[in-house]
Amino acid sequence: MNVHISQEQNAVVAVVSKFGAGIAKQISGLETKPSELNVRILKTSESAIVLAASTGHTHQLVKIYLTENKAGVTGFDRETGALIVARESGLTPHLLSYSLARKILIMEFIQGQSLAEMLTAGNCQALCFKLGRWLARFGKLTKAPVQPQSWHDYLIQCGTGPDSEVINQSRAFLQDFLIEDYALAKNDSAPGNWVVTPQGEFKGIDFEFAAHKPYGWDLLLTARSMVRLFPQFANELCEALCKGFCQSGAGRYDQFLALSKIFVAHTLSGPERNPTRLDTVLRAFNEASGRQLSLVVNAPYLDDCTERPDASLVQQFEHHLASVADQAWDDVDKETGGSAARSEEPASEPNTLHQAICTSCKGWCCSSGREKHAYIDRATIGRLRTQRPDLNKNDAVSYYLERLPDQSVTGSCLFHGKNGCGLPFETRSDRCRSFSCNSAKQLLQRSARHGFADALIIATENGQQMRATLLENGKITTATTTPSSPARRAPARAATLAEKGSSNG
Ligand code: SF4
Ligand code: SF4
Repeated sequence: MNVHISQEQNAVVAVVSKFGAGIAKQISGLETKPSELNVRILKTSESAIVLAASTGHTHQLVKIYLTENKAGVTGFDRETGALIVARESGLTPHLLSYSLARKILIMEFIQGQSLAEMLTAGNCQALCFKLGRWLARFGKLTKAPVQPQSWHDYLIQCGTGPDSEVINQSRAFLQDFLIEDYALAKNDSAPGNWVVTPQGEFKGIDFEFAAHKPYGWDLLLTARSMVRLFPQFANELCEALCKGFCQSGAGRYDQFLALSKIFVAHTLSGPERNPTRLDTVLRAFNEASGRQLSLVVNAPYLDDCTERPDASLVQQFEHHLASVADQAWDDVDKETGGSAARSEEPASEPNTLHQAICTSCKGWCCSSGREKHAYIDRATIGRLRTQRPDLNKNDAVSYYLERLPDQSVTGSCLFHGKNGCGLPFETRSDRCRSFSCNSAKQLLQRSARHGFADALIIATENGQQMRATLLENGKITTATTTPSSPARRAPARAATLAEKGSSNG
C-alpha cells in the first residue's frame, strides 16, 4: 500500500493498514491487493479520518470514523443516515458502501472546489443564492409537519441562537412565526462543507452533526456563517440566501428573511442590528396614523394588469370544458345509486380576514389556473348539474364561457379579471374554493390565537413592498400603485394608507 503521509501520522497508517484490503475491494469491485491502493489523507479530526483513495483509475472518498470516542460513533451514524436520505438527490456525494461494524463510509469523490475557497466579496451574494436553493432542496427531502411551536420558544430553548436581548426585541414576530415542519438539517454550515463542481453544482459534505431541526434551521446557521465572513453585506447575504431558499414557496420569503436577520443580529454591531422589516413598517404606520395595530403580515403579490387573452387559449379552454362536461354526463348516465363524480357542496366563502389578504395579493395563486383550466373538472361540472338541473351539457359549457371576462390578468387564469374571479364562489372548482396559501393560513392562525380582527397586510415581491392593505372594523382599504408594467412598478407605501385612507382599488 502506498500511503503518502508523514511520520507523525502513524496512527492513520495503522487504521488504513487494518482496513486497506476491504477498502480496496469496495473501491475496485475486485479482489485487489492492498498494495494497489493509493491513499492520500485529506483531513483528520478527533472523530474521523478522511482519505482520497484510488485503485487504478477509480477514485473514491473514504471516511473512517474513530470509534474510541463517542463523537466518532455518533458522527458515523448521523452521516450515514444523511447520505442514505440524500442518496438519489444529487445534493451530496453518492454513498457507495459502508460498514456498520467498522464505521467506514465509502463515497463518490467529488471533483471541485471548496465553497470556502471560492467565496469572495464579489461573488458571495450569487453563491449564497445557490446555497439557499441547496438548503431548501436538502430540507425538503425529509420535511414533515409537527405540532406547531413558535420560533420564539424554540430559540429560547435551543440556546445557540441570538441572545435574549435580540429575541426580546422581536418577540411579537417570533411568537407569531410558527415552526410547522421539521427536517433533517446539516446543522453545520461552515462554507468548507460544500464542494462546488466545475458545472456549478453544490454538493454538501460532512454530515457528522446532522439532526432533525425546524425546517429553515440550516438557513439560519448558514446566514450566520456568511455574515461572519462578510459583515458588510449582512442584509444582502440574508436576502440572497432567503431568495434561494424560498424560490418555490410563495409568501415565506419575508418571514425567513426577518428570522435570518434576527438570527445574525448578535454577530453584528451598530446600525446593522435592527428589528425586522415588518416591525418597522408597522411602527411607521402606527405612528403616522395614530393607530395601535398589532397584526402585520406579508402577502404574496401579483401585478394585476390585464389584457385580452389569446383566442387560442379560450378555444383550448372551450375544448377542455366540452370534454369534462362529456365525462360528467357519462358519469350520471352510468350512475347507479348516485355515486357519480361530483364534488361536495361548497365550503363557506372566505372570511373578511382571508378576503383582505387576497385583496392585497390580488390572486397570486390564480396564476396556475391558466394552464389548469381554472381546475374545472368532471366533478365541478357534476356539481353544477346538481345545482342547476335545468342545464343540459351544452348549457353547462356555456355557463362557464359566458363568465369569462373580456380582459384577464396577464398570465393568470382566464377567469381572473381586474376585480377578481369572474365565477360565483359556488361554481368554482373544489381547489379554488378551498385553497389557502401559507400566508393566508398564518394570518388566520395568528388572528385566532391573539383575537386580532384588524390587520395591516403588505404584499411583497422579491422583498419589495408593492401593495398595502388595511383591514379595520371589517372594512378593507388598499393603497397600491397598481403598476401596469414591471418597469413602472414602484413600492406601495403603508404610509399612504395612514395619510389618506384610500379606498379599495
Ligand atoms: S390564497 Fe389569497 S393571499 Fe394566498 S396566494 Fe391566493 S389570493 Fe393570494
Ligand atoms: S377560477 Fe377563479 S379562483 Fe379559480 S383560479 Fe381562476 S380566477 Fe382563481
